[in-house]
This record gives sequence, C-alpha cells and structure tokens, in this order.
Amino acid sequence: MNEFIKNMPKVELHMHVEGSMEAETLWKLAHKNNYAIEYNSIEELKAAYKFNNLTEFIDMFMLGTRVIKTEQDLYDVCMTYFEKCVEQNIRHTEVHCDIRTYVDYGYPADFVINALDAAFKDAKRLYGITGGFMPCFIRHLGNDVASKDLDLMLPYKDKILAIGLSAVEVGFPPSLFKDTFQRVHDAGIKVIAHAGEEAPADYIWSAIKDINVARIDHGIRCLDDERLVDYLVETQIPLTVCPYSNVALKVFNDISEHVLPTMLEKGLNVSIHSDDPAHFNAYLTENIIGIADHTSVTKTQIIKMAHNAINGSFASVKRKAELSKELNDYVARYTD
Ligand SMILES: [Zn+2]
Repeated sequence: MNEFIKNMPKVELHMHVEGSMEAETLWKLAHKNNYAIEYNSIEELKAAYKFNNLTEFIDMFMLGTRVIKTEQDLYDVCMTYFEKCVEQNIRHTEVHCDIRTYVDYGYPADFVINALDAAFKDAKRLYGITGGFMPCFIRHLGNDVASKDLDLMLPYKDKILAIGLSAVEVGFPPSLFKDTFQRVHDAGIKVIAHAGEEAPADYIWSAIKDINVARIDHGIRCLDDERLVDYLVETQIPLTVCPYSNVALKVFNDISEHVLPTMLEKGLNVSIHSDDPAHFNAYLTENIIGIADHTSVTKTQIIKMAHNAINGSFASVKRKAELSKELNDYVARYTD
C-alpha cells in the first residue's frame, strides 16, 4: 500500500509556498542575505521547527518570509518544492503565496507574481508539472487591506488561478470580505477560502453564501452541522483536507482520530493535501500514508480522493483528462 501511494500520480491543491521551506533552506537564505536569526546552529533551528502551538508555527512561517530578499530567493524556494513534487509524483499543484507580506516588507506586488510565474513555467518545462498560484487575503488584517491587495493583484489577473482567504480564522468570517470578493468575482477570478479549520461550521456557510467559493480549504468542521453536510454532499464543493496540519495545530491529538473516514462515508468531496509540509514534517505522500496507516480509509478511497483532487482542481478540461488517464493507467498497471 505504501509503495502504491508513493508512486501514485498526485494532485496537490492546498500548499503554502513558504510552508515548504525546510530549516536548511531558511538557514542558507538567512546567511546568504545577512539576516540575523536567533538560532546559533542549524540543529537549534531544526529543533525550533518542532513547535508546540499555532503562535510558534506562525512565528517560524513568518521568519521564512523574512529571509527571502529577492525574487530569485522565492523562485528557489518554489523550485525546491517542485523537486519534491518530482520525488512524490505530484503532477499538478495549486499553491498559496500571499502578496501582502512582501508588500509590507517594501517589495512591489509583482515580486511574488514574477517569482511564482517563472517557477511554474520552469516546473512545466523541466518536469511537466502544471498548476498555478493562488494568493490569499490575510484575514486578520481586515477587509480594507484585502481590498488594497486586490487592487494590486488585478493587473496580473491572468497569472492568478484563484484568490483565497487565509491566516487567523476565528473572529474573521468570510462575510467581512463580501464586497471585496464580489470584486474578485466581477474580475472573473475564482474564489476559495480557508474555512472550518478551527472556526465553527458557520464560517463554511459564510464562505458559501457570502463569497461564493469554488473550493474550501480544510472544511473539517462541517461535520458539526448536518444541514451543511447535506448541502456539501449535494453540491460536491471540494474540501482540501490536510491531516498532519490538523494534528500539528492540535485540531486532533493524533492522526488516528482524524475525521476523514467519516467525511468519506458521508459522501463529501474530500482530498488530501499538505498545507505547510516542511513545518508539519509531512509532504503529500506522507499525509496520504499517515491516513492509510492509521485510519480505516481504504485503497479504493485513496484512489477516489486522488480523482477528487484532479476534478476539484482549476486545471483545464484537457489537463484534467490527462491527469485522470495517468491515474487510471497507474491503478490498472498496479492491479495487474
Ligand atoms: Zn492552508
């Protein structure tokens, strides 16, 4: 089973670029750019990657953004992730990277856009990996900042796959951003949002009703609301579930307690992703293996979720057909 999962062609839909920055890369960039960090050795830094709570995680994530000083640095971080994609047979990936963080550091909006665009072009040319990038509004900065971010992004809308909503969830429901997301829709850009990770099911309703999302990041708290589950099953809105992220951020004490089996039984459109793989010490393959090893999820359900990821992606109809064929061929070959 583990071999099957390792080599299975995969699609990733929920991964934050800086969340793929391993301690080694952070250390290297800090030294290259003469950015003083409080850790005296790579071992100390690695130890700090084993954080105990959300605040420690956010601090480390933000430190990763601070050691990035040039478009080339950000491009290199992306390319390191794409090399991992090759190793894990991730064939299509849609990634988050927020513009606001870098704008606040004094870089222009196209700092992130140019770096990501160049990295995706090279990932396609070198490895045949497709996908794109989905900046998020940082929800705890509020709607006024989100609106300014959108103004900065609109000139580059052709290089953006979707716009999402991320960061501190509780206290910042999607409804606060209704008018800005209306402008996103008006510009013809798809809308997604982190919802129902730690905040209650109401936030998922708000993502659906107030900002009309095409896809929901996490969404695990939907199980608290039967009517919402029915709605999500009927509409088949994709939910991008990130098992080891949920464990690291203490939504569950252990991966064996994850609600993914229940979500599958209810008929929800779920798939597995890594969120911040370097920080949570699990890339896509490890997340799928973790679920396969420690819950009742079956091989058939693993394959079903791989198809869900393809169908829930923003890839073209043609690319989705290619990815489905690749997966079907792999499953057929493996069963032979
Ligand atoms: Zn996320």
